[in-house]
Amino acid sequence: MVNCKRSSKEEVQAELTAFREAREREYANRNYPKPCPFCGKRAEVVKAVGPGVDAWHGYCGACWSFGPLFADKGDATEAWNRRVT
Ligand SMILES: [Zn+2]
Repeated sequence: MVNCKRSSKEEVQAELTAFREAREREYANRNYPKPCPFCGKRAEVVKAVGPGVDAWHGYCGACWSFGPLFADKGDATEAWNRRVT
């Protein structure tokens, strides 16, 4: 019974670690755009400018590729990163 308890405690620790890593991955995925899928240069998520436009999108300044538009910056970053992988 003692061994059983100990192993279940380790399992809980492993689950907590996996949960924390998944959360950190998701955070990075929503906040840091991956390099451009076309030219490999550093990409950024910028606010679209134009009449009546209020949205964010991934953008590569080296090859002028654009990601899909989203009202939320995190969503735009995530969409850009999804395209990369
Ligand atoms: Zn590019």
